[in-house]
Amino acid sequence: MSELTRIFKDSIAHDGPMPLDTFMAVCLSHSQHGYYMTRDPFGVKGDFVTAPEISQMFGELLGLWAAECWTMLGSPDKIYLVELGPGRGTLMADALRAARISNEFSSALEVHLVETSPVLQEIQARALAQSPVPVSWHKSLEDVPDGPAIILANEFFDCLPVRHYVKAARHWHQRLVGFDTQGDLAFGLAPDPEPLLTMEAPDGAVLEISPAAQLMMTQLAARIAKGQSAALVVDYGYGETSYGETLQALKAHKRVNPLDCPGEADLTAHVDFAALTRAAQAAGADVFGPVTQGELLMRLGIAQRADALKKRATEDQACAIDLALARLVTERVGAAPGMGLLFKAIAIAPRGAPVLPGFRREA
Ligand code: SAH
Repeated sequence: MSELTRIFKDSIAHDGPMPLDTFMAVCLSHSQHGYYMTRDPFGVKGDFVTAPEISQMFGELLGLWAAECWTMLGSPDKIYLVELGPGRGTLMADALRAARISNEFSSALEVHLVETSPVLQEIQARALAQSPVPVSWHKSLEDVPDGPAIILANEFFDCLPVRHYVKAARHWHQRLVGFDTQGDLAFGLAPDPEPLLTMEAPDGAVLEISPAAQLMMTQLAARIAKGQSAALVVDYGYGETSYGETLQALKAHKRVNPLDCPGEADLTAHVDFAALTRAAQAAGADVFGPVTQGELLMRLGIAQRADALKKRATEDQACAIDLALARLVTERVGAAPGMGLLFKAIAIAPRGAPVLPGFRREA
C-alpha cells in the first residue's frame, strides 16, 4: 500500500469520507508524498508533455506577447513577469530569450515564479541560471509583491482540485472518497442532498466545479483590475459550462483509476473557461476569448517563426519543427491528438483596456 493510501485510509477511518477536491489536493500537493512534490513529471519518460516542452516556439511567442502587452499598458518602468506553475522553467527561459528583442522591456522586467514543488523549483532555477533579469520564487500569487504584472499560466488551472455533485433520486449529492465493503478506497455519495443546488438535470448528471480555480482567478483578476497588468491563461478545457466529469489520472501517458495509486499519477480536470471568465469579470477585470490555442498561436505568428527557424535547420530539424508546429496548432497529427482545438486561451485585462494581442473584441 502506498504511503498516501495509508494516510487517506487513516483520515477516512477517523473523520469520515472526504470531498473529491480534498482528495485531489492531497494527492497533488502533500508535502512529502504529493505528486508534484516528489518528481519531474514531464517529457517522454514522464506522465505528460506540455506545449513549451514540445517546442521553443511556444515560450518565445508568449514572451513576445508579454512585450507587446507591456507597450500597450503604457510601458511601466518596472513590470513583474509572473508565471503560475512553471514546470521545468522552459516556457520562461524561452520567453526571456525572445523578450530580448526589446531592450526597454527586458530592463523593466523582474521574474516571479509561483511554484509549490521544491523539486520543480530546483529544476526551474537551473533552467533560469543564465537569466539576464532577477528571478524569485513564491508559494502563492498573494506573495508576489504589488505592482504592474504580466501573468502567464500554461497548464496550471487544470491541476487545481475539482469537486463533483451527482444527481441521484432528483437531488444533488456531493461525491466523496470513502471505503468499499472490503475497506479499499472507493467513490460514494454524501447521504444528505445539497440544499442549495436546485438545477434540473437527469439522474446521473455530474456537476464538476473547481472552487480552487475560481478563487485563484478571483485573486489574479483583482490584481489585473488595479491596472497596467494583463494575464494569459492557456489550458485544455471547454468554453461553456455543461454537465459531465473530466477528472483524469495519468501515469506514464496512460489513464489509470485515480484511487489506485494516489500521489503517483497526475490528477487533472478540464478547465471551465466560462466559470473562470465569470470569476474574473466579477473581480472587476475584462476577459478576451476563449480562442483555441491553434488560433492564438497562428495570430501571434507561429507559422512565420517556424519558417525562420527552418532556414537555419538541417532537414531532420526542419521535419521536427513542422511536427511540433502541427502538434501545437492542429486538432490531429496523424492518429495522435493535437493541442490546437482542445487547448484554449483567455486573456485578462483591466476594464476598458485595448484588445490584447492574439484576441478580438468578440472572441
Ligand atoms: N506550466 C508548465 C507546467 C504545468 S504542470 C508547462 O507548461 O510545462 C503544473 C505546474 O503547476 C507544476 O509546476 C506544479 O508543480 C505547479 N503547481 C501545481 N499546483 C500548484 C499550486 N497550487 N500553486 C503553485 N504551483 C502549483
